[in-house]
Amino acid sequence: MAEHMDPEEFRRAGHAAVDWIADYWATLGQRPVTSHDPPGALAAALPTGPTAQGEPVEALLADLDTLVAPRLTHWQHPSFFGYFPANISGPSVLGDLISSGLGVQGMLWATSPACTELETVVLDWLAGLLDLPQRFRSTGSGGGVIQDSASSATLVATLAALHRASGGRWRDTGIDRRYRAYTSSQGHSSIEKAARIAGLGLDGVRVIDVDPETLAMRPDALREAIRADLAAGDVPAIVVATIGTTSTTAIDPLPEIGAICAELGVWLHVDAAYAGAAAVCPELRWSHVGLEYADSYCFDPHKWLLTGFDCDAFWVADRGELIEALTVLPEYLHNAATETGAVIDYRDWQVPLGRRFRALKLWFVLRWYGVEGLRTHIRSGVALADRFADRVQADDRFALAAPHPFSLVCFRLAAGDEASAELLSRVNATGRVFLTHTRVAGRYTLRLAVGSPLTTQAHVDEAWELLSEAVEKLPASHE
Ligand SMILES: *Cc1c(COP(=O)(O)O)cnc(C)c1O
Repeated sequence: MAEHMDPEEFRRAGHAAVDWIADYWATLGQRPVTSHDPPGALAAALPTGPTAQGEPVEALLADLDTLVAPRLTHWQHPSFFGYFPANISGPSVLGDLISSGLGVQGMLWATSPACTELETVVLDWLAGLLDLPQRFRSTGSGGGVIQDSASSATLVATLAALHRASGGRWRDTGIDRRYRAYTSSQGHSSIEKAARIAGLGLDGVRVIDVDPETLAMRPDALREAIRADLAAGDVPAIVVATIGTTSTTAIDPLPEIGAICAELGVWLHVDAAYAGAAAVCPELRWSHVGLEYADSYCFDPHKWLLTGFDCDAFWVADRGELIEALTVLPEYLHNAATETGAVIDYRDWQVPLGRRFRALKLWFVLRWYGVEGLRTHIRSGVALADRFADRVQADDRFALAAPHPFSLVCFRLAAGDEASAELLSRVNATGRVFLTHTRVAGRYTLRLAVGSPLTTQAHVDEAWELLSEAVEKLPASHE
């Protein structure tokens, strides 16, 4: 075999790999959604090290079929309803493949101009598509950037907020006072992680109560917590509000929260990791009311907008603050374009220095689907979730556990927590569906999240039938 894979060999093997993916997608619905092998099954089936001489790609693909694929959780399976399903699509994979093929580093404009410029343009497109406030666009004071995940977006927002709250001192002196972050009891765990990494500590995170019905942050409780911290001489640095919480897709009241942040001078970051994609549909934009107050905002196209992980779209209203907080310029990165101040250097917008050409996959998705194609995907998810929720509501044995504004339905059995947990374990054991759970007001709750582009009405109906049959067979003690 050649020392390196030459372009002709790559072409041949590449076709085989693309065929493998196409076959995988074509047969996905026939596979069990999850593997039921015990831990260590794959490790036991693999040799202890690589062969001395290279092997052909065909040998790898064969092992993928027999060893790896059967032990995967199939995140794109049409009956995968857990967490928030993967949202891969053909155009996304192709854009990502080309990004890999190009192998460029986009840390500076100068290290690959098109990598930076396409990202800026695509994020402006996306801001237009979601009808985000004008100040998030690169044509104004703000701009967008692709982060790996919403967790990174929250961390970067926290660092910029610290920079502002410290009057610019934080960058040089580090944490000099007790800075505080605020989020609701339903906020994502990445907020706590960001606060720990940023040096606020777990005690620096103030957990704000939610309304028991809507599970949305209570603005009065937020105001009280900020006031109390100010009175104690602490510095409120950032409020993280959520559009579409991970547990139940609750929506924090941005108009009230935003007004409090504006009045008290606190950075407002809005985390719409999953539900942000809904704003491509005009009829769902009510969920983003009040966003004009936000200093930063993010959502994950990899959660509901047909793009492969990792792709978090993050915008700031004032790019100057973010860049000041994070900029570094070692001698070996000095270049004429940066010195003119006329270009964006995305290394100052994120934690790592290096960065992939992730805008390609997003560009492929936006262009291949077009605005209407994206809307159709979101609308299909919402309609399927509504259909499922109607079934739940019409059946006395079940109850809805929270509102379902998007494509996640939270529900439980009237018979109680133990019965609900047993039901989840039994339907998942069939291998024909996969759901996950949460707790709502302390009560065990099942979650059915629709998201895979392969999911149709028949898959949602089958999920309902499996649940309904499994309830029949639950031991009487649960009734
Ligand atoms: C999923 C989720 C996150 C974390 O997303 P990653 O992109 O995986 O880091 C953050 N916030 C909310 C509300 C989420 O649902």
